Amino acid sequence: MAKDADMQGADASGAPAAQDAVSHQDLYPSRVVLTTYPSQLGIDPVPLSWGAKTPAERGPVVVSRQQDNLGRRNAIGAGGGSYCIYRALAVAIGALAPNHRPDFDLTEPTNTIGPFASWLDPEKIVSLDPWGHATVEHYSEHIKQGIDVRPSTAITQAHIKLPEIDDAIRNGTLRCDGDIVTAGGELKVVKVASEPVWHLPGVAKRFGITEATLRRALFEDTGGMYPELITRPDLKVFLPPIGGLTVYIFGDPAHIPDPTKRLTMRVHDECNGSDVFGSDICTCKPYLIYSIEECAREAQNGGVGVVVYFRKEGRALGEVTKYLVYNARKRQEGGDTAANYFKRTELVAGVKDMRFQALMPDILHWLGVSRIDRFISMSNMKYEAIVDSGIEVVERVSIPADRMPADSKVEIEAKIADGYFTTGAVPTADELLAVKGRNWDEVPH
Ligand SMILES: [Zn+2]
Repeated sequence: MAKDADMQGADASGAPAAQDAVSHQDLYPSRVVLTTYPSQLGIDPVPLSWGAKTPAERGPVVVSRQQDNLGRRNAIGAGGGSYCIYRALAVAIGALAPNHRPDFDLTEPTNTIGPFASWLDPEKIVSLDPWGHATVEHYSEHIKQGIDVRPSTAITQAHIKLPEIDDAIRNGTLRCDGDIVTAGGELKVVKVASEPVWHLPGVAKRFGITEATLRRALFEDTGGMYPELITRPDLKVFLPPIGGLTVYIFGDPAHIPDPTKRLTMRVHDECNGSDVFGSDICTCKPYLIYSIEECAREAQNGGVGVVVYFRKEGRALGEVTKYLVYNARKRQEGGDTAANYFKRTELVAGVKDMRFQALMPDILHWLGVSRIDRFISMSNMKYEAIVDSGIEVVERVSIPADRMPADSKVEIEAKIADGYFTTGAVPTADELLAVKGRNWDEVPH
């Protein structure tokens, strides 16, 4: 490995030598530890028993690599989901002390959720830490003793204001009740943000594969990022560097597990182009807005509404793949037809969808959901994952036709033909060829 003296010289291009704000030896005084082994001196993980009957027996998730915690880690990966990379950058440039410990004073949840029986079942919840919001409450002794325990879930409150909701109030489809919808047209919500925490044996079982296969694939396809996936079979918990989720609750969260209260729910997967920027090639934003309205109405009628928003952009294929597919769809012979909608995604990505909904119901079990009265979604994959996990779905509701953008018909008809839920007719192969999206030539550039 290069010494500092080598790294500080001018490079071959003649560019000025880089100057570290702090030497990396000051940041990281010990030798690089590439990986650890169960039998290594100083390895003594904090006990962690997934699905134990009390938070004390379960133990905190400890993933810190700070020097005094390296031997006490009981999880692989890094905290913060995908943001762990920005934390690394902050440390590297000297903006964040590598041994910084958070001050959790006043950060506790605004609302109580759970605990529910599902939290104590090692197989019901495998992709988030059911005690991740209550780490300070349950693990303050560990924190006092120097164990670097961090929350992976946070609960807060907010008001949200959306132009589409203002329109709904103006045209009378949603009323201001002064509580769920304020006189000023704001929606009151309780919000939960959660970062992924995977119990590897449970995740493997959910997908019907072995833990060894899961570990090897995670190791290989992250560029060998986490060698402990291979060297530490004793560590069963992995914090993956992927996006998390947000829950928006309309009405009283205590109504969610109450069988006498109605629940309207949408599980929404991120589509930045539509959700934020209003792209009209799909129905994502119209679905999201419609579900927010329906959730507010359910809460106004004495029930509760829940929108879960997953950071699984472009069917978890990402926006780059998504745009490549858009291009191929528009350029293919015969134009952008519903008949070729999934084929183009498969040609680019190898699969048509990587969201793999099997882990999705975990958050519903964390919220205490046992029945969904109105499920706002046409996705068969979401529906089947939820029902297979033991939650009853009473009614499936798809978006009213008058809320669909014209160019999104390709997506909708292709999905219906592929087995997505509809109360209408399933299109034939010939009909799919006739459902065409806009050509680029019609778009002003
Ligand atoms: Zn979309």
